[in-house]
Amino acid sequence: MGIEQPKTLGSGFVVTSLDKLVNWSRACSMWPLTFGLACCAIEMMATGAARFDLDRMGILFRASPRQSDVLIIAGTVTKKMAPVIKVLYEQMPEPKYVIAMGACACSGGIFDTYSVVQGIDEEIPVDVYIPGCPPRPEGLLYGLMKLQEKIRAERNTFGAVIGIGEVVHPA
Ligand code: SF4
Repeated sequence: MGIEQPKTLGSGFVVTSLDKLVNWSRACSMWPLTFGLACCAIEMMATGAARFDLDRMGILFRASPRQSDVLIIAGTVTKKMAPVIKVLYEQMPEPKYVIAMGACACSGGIFDTYSVVQGIDEEIPVDVYIPGCPPRPEGLLYGLMKLQEKIRAERNTFGAVIGIGEVVHPA
């Protein structure tokens, strides 16, 4: 019990409980960047509005990447836009997560053309994929809840905060 072996900090009782506290606070206060690319963004806006009310889950859209920890790629990613998305992603502080919302963000959708990126995961890592054209707000809500599950399953988050080791992500 407790911190007996420094090499196994992630499995100690105290540190594991602190991990849960850090994970709980992160999962219940996800702040997505206010950012949309095409028609899927309309569904994303509807999800944030009164009927679906993301605020009740602690999910508040922010207007700056420096205050955001979730990037929802909502819409078609053109090759012209991809470098801009990368800059926004790089401006977000760690830990950060990406949701690919809709067929276009996941795989290019119906736009198998010279100008469209065939999936945002060609440019930045993606944590959750949401299929559909467009996915309904319930689909985005489900994707956000899946991301919460993923955050809650992370290990050594407290250790990473105090500079001991790296976060262990779920498989
Ligand atoms: S998946 Fe469909 S609704 Fe979403 S951006 Fe592409 S074409 Fe528009």
